[in-house]
Amino acid sequence: MKREHVIKPILDHPYPTIQYGKGVYLYDDQGKAYIDGCSGAVTAGIGHGVQEIVDAMMEQASKVSFVYRSQFTSEPAEQLAKKLSDLAPGNDYWTFFVNSGSEATETAMKMAIQYWQERGRPGKNKVISRRMSYHGITMGALSMSGHVLRRRRFIPLLADLPVVAPPYCYRCPLGKTSPSCQMACADDLNTAIKRIGAEHIAAFIAEPIIGAAGGAIVPPAGYYKKIKEICEQHDILFIADEVMTGIARTGAMFGMEHYGVEPDLIALGKGMSAGYTPMAATMAKDHVMEPILQGSKSIMSGHTYSANPQSAAISLAVLAYIEKHQLVEAAEIKGTILLNRLRQMADGIAIIGDVRGQGLLIALEFVADRTEKRMFAANIGVTSRMIEKAFHKGLLVYPAGGAVDGEGDAIIVAPPLVITEEEIDQLVRILAESIREVMAEVIPSEME
Ligand code: PMP
Repeated sequence: MKREHVIKPILDHPYPTIQYGKGVYLYDDQGKAYIDGCSGAVTAGIGHGVQEIVDAMMEQASKVSFVYRSQFTSEPAEQLAKKLSDLAPGNDYWTFFVNSGSEATETAMKMAIQYWQERGRPGKNKVISRRMSYHGITMGALSMSGHVLRRRRFIPLLADLPVVAPPYCYRCPLGKTSPSCQMACADDLNTAIKRIGAEHIAAFIAEPIIGAAGGAIVPPAGYYKKIKEICEQHDILFIADEVMTGIARTGAMFGMEHYGVEPDLIALGKGMSAGYTPMAATMAKDHVMEPILQGSKSIMSGHTYSANPQSAAISLAVLAYIEKHQLVEAAEIKGTILLNRLRQMADGIAIIGDVRGQGLLIALEFVADRTEKRMFAANIGVTSRMIEKAFHKGLLVYPAGGAVDGEGDAIIVAPPLVITEEEIDQLVRILAESIREVMAEVIPSEME
């Protein structure tokens, strides 16, 4: 056994050492450049090495970096919570700060359960979700996640909460076709509620656009209106997991804005600090906070670093940068350009089954046969081959395969929102080359 010290994702894989980043590029210690085609883990939304953020970081650090939330509040934390509420649908949110997307969804889960306890209905304590979903890696968040590969090892410890059919029109889980299906997938929430009993359900959680568990799956128009109606009919809170979609990524500040729905709770992470510091948040509307304010007056959760002024100041600077450089609009404009370019590219490549997305959250799904939409066998490892091939050529893309019964191949393309058209050209060129080379490896040449 070769002794190392950092436990990396794949233990026998050689990872290059990062040196620095600038804009959409990262550079390793050998001088190799990588175009960050997925903002790391759909995180580095404003690009790397932004001086304004470094300045804000230094300024706050020179005052105070850390205070414990049960002893002090801070101006950055107060301002950030107010700013998030001003930006969110309905503008009436409170914010609980955490450090990762998993903590944000798990806190939302706990707050929903506490909400019903304070209202004298403690039996409403399950947070149900969709089968194709990823809400995080900690046990509560993983319990809500349908991502088969990530759940598998821990099934004995997890609650079986992902029970609702996803709005995955490319491969409808109910075997139907949109629009004649009349959104049977939304009705599936109703079916699940009837089976489990609304008296046991605190909330329903969903990603506005499904991310890691399938790749940029955009629901049909009207889907979330119907979901929200069903939730309201049954006294069930609606949690939007905006960890991936939130903060400008999809061409709206919050993904749920595309659907005209105001969630009762929102989980945020990734883009809210754009990778400059670990920072995440659970937002709750006034009406969710009301019984807690009237009741125990405290949320039974929290972490040492919750609401630390350093991270809050960085996140505030990121939001200011997004507004100043109009990156919500940029995500929409550049997203449309990138989606069109990828669709043109897909025309000539037989193994691309679907190109989909919203704003700069885009995915390609790969198939062994386009007409039949037949998946590649899992042991071929098409997703990881794609990631590796592109990496080798200096392009980073994010895996979204393996989510459906451990099968399916998809990658997410989600570059920083500051990407230029020239950089989009470069990204598409390297991606096309990578996909063609993987295709040559995995299917007989006569299929081309
Ligand atoms: N929810 C969603 C929608 C996500 O995409 C992720 C991360 N991929 C998480 C939750 C978990 O976030 P984190 O990795 O920061 O814990």
